Amino acid sequence: MEKDIILLSKIAFLDKILDEFEDEFGDIPKLIKNKEADISYKKTQILETENIIKDIKVFVTTSKNILASLKDKEDKLSQQQFLVRNNKEFDAISAEIRNIKMEHEKLSVKMRNEGLKENNLDLVLNKQKEELNSLIEELEVLNSQLYELSKEHSEEVRKYNETRKKLRSDINDDTFDKYAAIRKKNNDAAVYVKKGMCNGCYRQIPQQIIIDMRNQHNRLFQCENCGRLLLSDWTEVNEDEFLNEI
Ligand SMILES: [Zn+2]
Repeated sequence: MEKDIILLSKIAFLDKILDEFEDEFGDIPKLIKNKEADISYKKTQILETENIIKDIKVFVTTSKNILASLKDKEDKLSQQQFLVRNNKEFDAISAEIRNIKMEHEKLSVKMRNEGLKENNLDLVLNKQKEELNSLIEELEVLNSQLYELSKEHSEEVRKYNETRKKLRSDINDDTFDKYAAIRKKNNDAAVYVKKGMCNGCYRQIPQQIIIDMRNQHNRLFQCENCGRLLLSDWTEVNEDEFLNEI
């Protein structure tokens, strides 16, 4: 995670430079930015669908156990009915059996419905995964278009684009996806905390958060006001060093 936050800070640094060249590349940088955000959103949808399916599976397993124990109880009561000494006892057991049967029936219906729901959700999930694959393919096409365009550009811009591509493949998906989703709204999706303020919306960051950010290098922090990712000074990119490296 610590490594990912440093990668994130480098990506944010590069994006800031590349955004200045945006006009020279026509629509492509914007299309890439939107595609990356769409991918992030699609992954969230997939995760939600998977979680609902998981919940249904747990419900079905639990219900199966409950249905089995209800059936057990019913069988035992039916046998007890042969041993009763009077009508009153017989009627009491009959009533209990009726209740158990009703409970059994209700739960069976619910289980069937959840089963249907699960089938539908499996279809939805497959569709979402197909959509994700298409989005990833579309992004690849856009990236190669950008690559072709940057060949005609200065060496400098071409290097920036290539470095970004490399950083993107090194950073973990979750961290990047969060960044991409925010970047759809705010170009500067990951910002430093300067003078105790979020450098995106200039709202004061609580002192405790600033201390946590310094100490917890494994956590990704977000501005509570604007939602931008917050970068602590320990991730600061040394411009000269970084530009020399690439
Ligand atoms: Zn903010």
